[in-house]
Amino acid sequence: MSRPARAGAPADWRDGLPPGRDGYSFAFLDAGAKREIRRRILKAVAIPGCQVPFGSREMPIARGWGTGGLQLTLALIGPEDVLKVIDQGADDSVNAVSIRRFVQRVTGVRTTTDTPAATLIQTRHRIPEEPLRPHQILVFQVPIPEPLRLVEPSEKETRRMHAEADYSRMWLYLYEDIVTYGEITIGARYPVLVNRRHLMDPSPIPRWDVERLDRNPALMLFCAGREKRIYALPPHTLVEPLQFEDVPFRVESFAGRRCRRCGSARSFLDEAIDEATGRRSYACSDAAFCEKVRKAGGRTAPEPEEGGP
Ligand SMILES: [Zn+2]
Repeated sequence: MSRPARAGAPADWRDGLPPGRDGYSFAFLDAGAKREIRRRILKAVAIPGCQVPFGSREMPIARGWGTGGLQLTLALIGPEDVLKVIDQGADDSVNAVSIRRFVQRVTGVRTTTDTPAATLIQTRHRIPEEPLRPHQILVFQVPIPEPLRLVEPSEKETRRMHAEADYSRMWLYLYEDIVTYGEITIGARYPVLVNRRHLMDPSPIPRWDVERLDRNPALMLFCAGREKRIYALPPHTLVEPLQFEDVPFRVESFAGRRCRRCGSARSFLDEAIDEATGRRSYACSDAAFCEKVRKAGGRTAPEPEEGGP
């Protein structure tokens, strides 16, 4: 957009004017809301993995549809940013398209589906297959920020457990899972320990993505709008999935399976079942990655960062 801008100043203060649409301030949120959210982000970055409460604002979408992620995105985005929004890896789902259009409308920023080209990526339940770079920000939409909710319903009690780093009941839960089923059955929302201190819910990403949280060069921010919590993983933070010495953490196995569109055997695959024939087929969950591999003829495919069968 052709908004006059002065580099270095927060977007709201550059010209004191909305971007010329509907009378909203730049990026929808008022300056006070942005300031509060940015302060909470700084605190979250200072204590990696620790949940920081914030005053969640009403958004023009329903709570539970990404209001937390959207508030972080709007509080951080500047006119020079390039935005990507994904929902379960797809850029073209209704949720992703709606959020991208909304942010584009209230900021005028450029948008992209190309992971390396984006400066700010808002995501629901996936980490892009292509490696993230320093200075990129990944914003996660979080439904349930409290990893201990699985074992303790009381908020007061979970706060005590975090304060004392008392995660024995979580370990016991995992142990009982192994005794009952022979392995840990948690799929998405696998609990991780951050900096060997705070237990954190990584949002409902598959186990495939959990190892990518560890020492990632990008800044990762998490926000639950309904539960009013922000937490963060600064670049290069140590993140370990909870595991036992004799029962190590493992990711989903796609051994012998390939994407039906691009042929990749190195990405997280979604399973589809043909209703008529009952045949199962697989396709990359990360649609932009899949398209890139397909265009490259499957030969010069960008390598996923890590993980794989
Ligand atoms: Zn594919």
